[in-house]
Amino acid sequence: MIAPAEERGLRIAVIGAGLSGLAAARMLADQRHRVSLFEKSRGCGGRAATRRATQPSGETLHFDHGAQYFTARDPRFQRCVQTWAERGLVAPWDGRIGAFDGDGFTPAGQETTRWVGEPGMSALGRALAEGLDVRLETRVRPPRWCRGRWQLSDEAGQELGRFERVVVSAPAPQSAELLMDAPRLAAQAACVDYTPCWTLMLGFAAPVPLAFDGVFVNQGPLRWIARDSSKPGRSVPAGNSPGDAVGGSSVGPAAEQAAGSTGRGDCWVLHAEPGWTRKHLNDAREEVEAAMLAAFAALVEMAGGALPAITWRQSHSWLYSLVETPLEEGCLWDPALGIGACGDWCNGARVEDAWLSGEALAGRILAAMASG
Ligand SMILES: Cc1cc2nc3c(=O)[nH]c(=O)nc-3n(C[C@H](O)[C@H](O)[C@H](O)COP(=O)(O)OP(=O)(O)OC[C@H]3O[C@@H](n4cnc5c(N)ncnc54)[C@H](O)[C@@H]3O)c2cc1C
Repeated sequence: MIAPAEERGLRIAVIGAGLSGLAAARMLADQRHRVSLFEKSRGCGGRAATRRATQPSGETLHFDHGAQYFTARDPRFQRCVQTWAERGLVAPWDGRIGAFDGDGFTPAGQETTRWVGEPGMSALGRALAEGLDVRLETRVRPPRWCRGRWQLSDEAGQELGRFERVVVSAPAPQSAELLMDAPRLAAQAACVDYTPCWTLMLGFAAPVPLAFDGVFVNQGPLRWIARDSSKPGRSVPAGNSPGDAVGGSSVGPAAEQAAGSTGRGDCWVLHAEPGWTRKHLNDAREEVEAAMLAAFAALVEMAGGALPAITWRQSHSWLYSLVETPLEEGCLWDPALGIGACGDWCNGARVEDAWLSGEALAGRILAAMASG
């Protein structure tokens, strides 16, 4: 039970608008605190991200290049997901999931409900930010403790305000830097490691001939491949309209081949294996794309088919993708300084862990206030 905040509420800064930051911000704002959310990128949602590509036909393709889907195991998170589903923000993905072990493909268990944002993973972050005071494209410098308040500024040195409480929700290595005036929390954040992940997004002129929509790959450079066009609410590229997607590249000869074809296309996201990514993190993008594409083509060949013409492609390298060594703390909170940290890394490695960590930190802040 949490006592309602005073009429004015506290000034609280939340750094990072991924799902953990949004969970904390929502819960604190619901208690009438004056919450400002600062996010360095152009949108909310963090690693629950979607890359959009507009075709000449005006059709938009969606690629979830970060989190692929999420599960809900904790009853508190299950209740949340249920309300998101009722609002049309998420839907179950009933894709055919399999595994590849080097010799062949086997179907994976379908008992887990795999949730995805609709029409893309980032739709969730966008919707959850509605009504909050969000400052996008604002990279925050480490907050400074100054005369009993936290002073925030952006990377240009512009002052962002003074706050009574601060929530840091960036990935652990970035949080460790942001927490320099809270050394105990910074030291905990500094212990957390992540795997990196090269990601390749591909548009095809026709469906890729695989009997699965998502495959856990246990051999070679790839770790996971997914047919994003099989997710609910996604557009499927028309086979006769090669893409000119924003930020990506239409693939010349393949796009020309595609121009002659008809029917429906396909969108795929490939994730590279962490060890392979580490080895190739600094390689030229074109080389990485070629190697991942060759591995994908080999998989499709193993299944007895061939890749259709590629109409669009783009790659992305995630330096921080999945947490390797989570803290199992729920969240971090320093009651004397009024600063805390949340994120998947406090709790686990997944969307659900991130959300629950944000709620846990907001709960700690509210409980500390209620107890005076
Ligand atoms: C390739 C990949 C695949 C994944 N697959 C899955 C999956 O299938 N299922 C699953 O459940 N999870 C998956 N995950 C993990 C999932 O995406 C994360 O656990 C979850 O989104 C983390 O949320 P978060 O809020 O803790 O952190 P983030 O989403 O990283 O949010 C942190 C935010 O802080 C911002 N930020 C950082 N520094 C600053 C600063 N100085 N100033 C302002 N803003 C700042 C960042 O821009 C970011 O938006 C995957 C992640 C990746 C990258």
